[in-house]
Amino acid sequence: MENVVIIGSGCAGWTAAIYTARANLQPLVVTGTQPGGLLTTTTVVENFPGFSKGVDAGALMMAMQEQAERFGARVRYMSVVEQVDFSRRPLALVVDGREVLAKSVIIATGAAHRRLGVPGEGELEGRGVTYCATCDGALPVFRAQPLVVVGGGDSACEEANYLTRFGSIVYLIHRRDRLRAARVLAERTLANPKIQPVWDTVVERVTGGAGERVAGVALRQVKTGARSTLACAGVFVAIGQVPNTRLFKGAVDMDGAGFIVPVKGARTNVAGVFVAGDCADAVYRQAITAAGAGCMAGIEAERWLAG
Ligand code: NAP
Repeated sequence: MENVVIIGSGCAGWTAAIYTARANLQPLVVTGTQPGGLLTTTTVVENFPGFSKGVDAGALMMAMQEQAERFGARVRYMSVVEQVDFSRRPLALVVDGREVLAKSVIIATGAAHRRLGVPGEGELEGRGVTYCATCDGALPVFRAQPLVVVGGGDSACEEANYLTRFGSIVYLIHRRDRLRAARVLAERTLANPKIQPVWDTVVERVTGGAGERVAGVALRQVKTGARSTLACAGVFVAIGQVPNTRLFKGAVDMDGAGFIVPVKGARTNVAGVFVAGDCADAVYRQAITAAGAGCMAGIEAERWLAG
């Protein structure tokens, strides 16, 4: 029987692992299919305290994993929790088809990229539609081509700036006339001569062309209703995240958007089940807040087990 199973391997999961490992609980970390979490889909993290010149996101996550393992965390790499039963004692999980019993569980499953939900998006995903400029931006098909980024937050601005290394021009399509991104990033983005903002505009359809790849987008100006098209080789969607919590529906309390609602600190409504990070945070969604929440969940789990 496990003392504590940590589901997820982003900033929250690894920090919970560091704390519970240092408490000699030998936590089991089930990484999921995206080890390192959503942060690994960005390039440089500029706002994690202690790294004055920024830090590579992948390197940061690897360092957290090494730190957790040094203190005795055990890692089920690329493993997935398929089911949970929190009505039983001990708590029961199905991991890669096998039952795992645990005295406590820390949910740190993070969030996934939100989708536009327009025709063509799903069909052309991987063929010009992508959710990660860092992963795909350097592909030859995007080089010296017009590219589209959708969104107006920090992610969209970062993606747009990054893509100017590869594309001939980057259109930043935003549904309002002001960026949501932090001021310094918004100013940098609008000052970039290779980025052309397209304000008050939504993507209605992603269109394919020869070779079944993205050929362009159909747009609608929300204030005038005017419709237009824009030719592009890539559509980089950066419109936020949705929590990865479907597995826990009915097992722990959530809000209407699917974010897990802690009852106090990192505690959920189920005794022995704790939560940390983006799957419970619709507001801050930062690497540092996820790490802090992972610390809280680790400490709470340790105290709960001791009690
Ligand atoms: P976000 O802040 O939620 O921004 C999402 C953007 O997409 C908003 O501009 C929103 O428009 C737009 N949007 C949402 N749904 C849409 C839809 N269906 N169609 C068209 N547009 C849509 O998400 P994010 O940029 O991914 O950032 C998430 C969190 O991570 C934030 O807290 C951010 O500060 C943080 N972050 C930080 C960094 C950094 O510090 N370097 C980098 C990336 C992310 P509206 O503005 O109209 O709502």
